[in-house]
Amino acid sequence: MLGSACSHSNKDDPVVTDDSQADVLAQYQAVTDELAAAEAAAGRPGGSVRLVAVSKTHPASRIRPLLERGHRLFGENRVQEAEEKWPALRSDFPDLELHLIGPLQTNKVREAVALFDVIETVDRPKLADALAREMERTGRSLRCLVQINTGAEPQKAGVLPEEADAFIEECRHRRRLAVEGLMCIPPQADDPMVHFRMLAAMAHRHGLPILSMGMSGDYPRAIAAGATHVRVGTAIFGHR
Ligand SMILES: *Cc1c(COP(=O)(O)O)cnc(C)c1O
Repeated sequence: MLGSACSHSNKDDPVVTDDSQADVLAQYQAVTDELAAAEAAAGRPGGSVRLVAVSKTHPASRIRPLLERGHRLFGENRVQEAEEKWPALRSDFPDLELHLIGPLQTNKVREAVALFDVIETVDRPKLADALAREMERTGRSLRCLVQINTGAEPQKAGVLPEEADAFIEECRHRRRLAVEGLMCIPPQADDPMVHFRMLAAMAHRHGLPILSMGMSGDYPRAIAAGATHVRVGTAIFGHR
């Protein structure tokens, strides 16, 4: 990575504003406009919803224009891919904020705690323990969200709804993780509003301020249901 491939991309990236980069900026603008319209429609103040730009599978050359435009909040779903892209971007934009939105294996906890600012996918006791231990060891305290499998889908990560209350309490009080909210990915076939409302009610019950819900296909509806963070990939960066 540090050899010729890197110097090649450094040479090309800043000067070439090709069509794909222009597309990213235009699509980003369209998403921020729609987000603002959804906030207004929901009677929520402008700026109450944060846009997590999901850059997974897209190279740094497509991410950089957004950073230069002033966007600072991004999501990645794989630790290894994020390790390859983000240290260089962060050294140029130290105030960026990176969220892990994909499943985290316990053997990647050390790398994840070093690289990310927020872990959105805390979903089992073994992972919560490993995160708490690593944060104590390093003194780096990341904000965490608990991922809820609101549709109880067997193939999907996340805590089952009936186990969520106990798990959230355990994470906060026994493990002393900085749990600030909840995250979900509704089943594709369902009306997402049912799931957004379930997540909102659960967060309310626990006094948790952050609700990460809504993707390219449904983020305006998530905002209507109270999302504080929407995670949008395709609508900004195009198809993966
Ligand atoms: C990929 C991904 C997104 C973004 O999905 P799009 O439909 O491309 O906007 C959001 N959340 C998670 C957890 C993802 O993995």
